[in-house]
Amino acid sequence: MAERLKNWAGNIEFGPARVHRPETVEQVQRIVAGAARARVLGTGHSFNPIADTPGDLISVAGLPADIRIDRERGTVSVAGGVRYGELARELDAAGYALHNLGSLPHISVAGAVATATHGSGVGLGNLATAVAGVEIVTGGGELVSLGRGDADFPGSVVALGALGVVVRVTLDVVPAYQVSQHVFERLPRAQLDAHWEEIAGAGYSVSLFTGWRGDTVDQVWIKRREGDAPAPAELFGAGPAAGARHPIAAMSPVNCTEQGGVPGPWHARLPHFRLEFTPSAGDELQSEYFVARADAVAAFAAVERVRDLVVPALQISEIRTVAADGLWLSPHYERDSVALHFTWVPNNDLVLRAVEALEAELAPLGARPHWGKVFRRAPRLPRTSDFVALAERLDPRGTFRNAFVERHVWAE
Ligand SMILES: Cc1cc2nc3c(=O)[nH]c(=O)nc-3n(C[C@H](O)[C@H](O)[C@H](O)COP(=O)(O)OP(=O)(O)OC[C@H]3O[C@@H](n4cnc5c(N)ncnc54)[C@H](O)[C@@H]3O)c2cc1C
Repeated sequence: MAERLKNWAGNIEFGPARVHRPETVEQVQRIVAGAARARVLGTGHSFNPIADTPGDLISVAGLPADIRIDRERGTVSVAGGVRYGELARELDAAGYALHNLGSLPHISVAGAVATATHGSGVGLGNLATAVAGVEIVTGGGELVSLGRGDADFPGSVVALGALGVVVRVTLDVVPAYQVSQHVFERLPRAQLDAHWEEIAGAGYSVSLFTGWRGDTVDQVWIKRREGDAPAPAELFGAGPAAGARHPIAAMSPVNCTEQGGVPGPWHARLPHFRLEFTPSAGDELQSEYFVARADAVAAFAAVERVRDLVVPALQISEIRTVAADGLWLSPHYERDSVALHFTWVPNNDLVLRAVEALEAELAPLGARPHWGKVFRRAPRLPRTSDFVALAERLDPRGTFRNAFVERHVWAE
């Protein structure tokens, strides 16, 4: 019997007939060539059955990391299963950095870019926008390389695992930089609406945390690069926190990255949590929706209209921004976006009720869900048909199609 595998949150049990852990690209090619149905598993941090298959589940964690920096091109090339934390350490030691990071360093590079994982910053695209090239083992087991400038490339990065096994990823790098972060507390709710653009743009990367309860936003985290304008003494009525904070104010900040304006390396400030801290599994579910940044104030009002269903299911919400990109299945495709994230309690019934209500309220704003989190319906994106055509060309037998992509990408 196949081993029983679950995702990080424990809410999805995968049901493959076989699990493979290849250690070479040739092994990946042989497995794919012999498979009728296959999917790839990254680090299993998605909250829905996106990675599941009744056929062959291929974990890429065993491929050698093989991290190669190309100083002339300003890129780094890594095996798909490498985790951001491991990559960040190597890059920083060589004097390089990535433009941004998500909140968790334990996630694989190929798995993160497959779902358009993002951090925050009005000028910063999601993590997939740093991808300059991919090497994919496609349907019949062939190894295909695609790079920026190839016609199919914009369809091949945020690909939900539907094109094949990404065995290598090449990412743009920049010189290593220092970041400092300041936390402000109790932003008056009315000020958020009145000054949304200024608040979202108050640093290189800005995150707001709220429980959607009272008439204040709990916290605003402002991450500034060295050389940016100094942090303000006060932010539209929000004052600086007196000490270190966890995004959920009642929790200990011991595992959070250093605050209080102390400069530090990019990888030790852009994530909210320390690299050496491994969060416990299974204590939460997550959802996230993206609307145009210009519609942020309307989106906040939409969430508040269903507050009665959201609050009982909620641990904390995070509001971030993501710059527009040209990647076909990216939820930020050609749209500067605000990201409304919900960390839920691990209770499916409460969460699904909140998710249904949120999707109904946010639909008129053209909300797009995060592919890796809990959602019910995803609207068709402007380039979905082009993606489907690309997938059918690279994988004519549909080896890498599963129920999730059939429902959310192939179905009209
Ligand atoms: C605690 C926590 C914090 C998070 N924080 C953020 C955040 O800050 N920002 C954000 O946007 N998201 C966040 N996420 C969501 C997470 O980044 C995404 O779900 C991401 O896709 C997970 O990567 P993974 O390696 O675990 O991929 P998996 O969940 O294993 O797989 C996701 C998809 O990628 C495909 N895939 C994986 N590896 C490959 C490969 N080598 N080749 C082809 N396809 C592949 C899979 O088939 C599947 O379709 C968070 C999740 C958790 C649990």
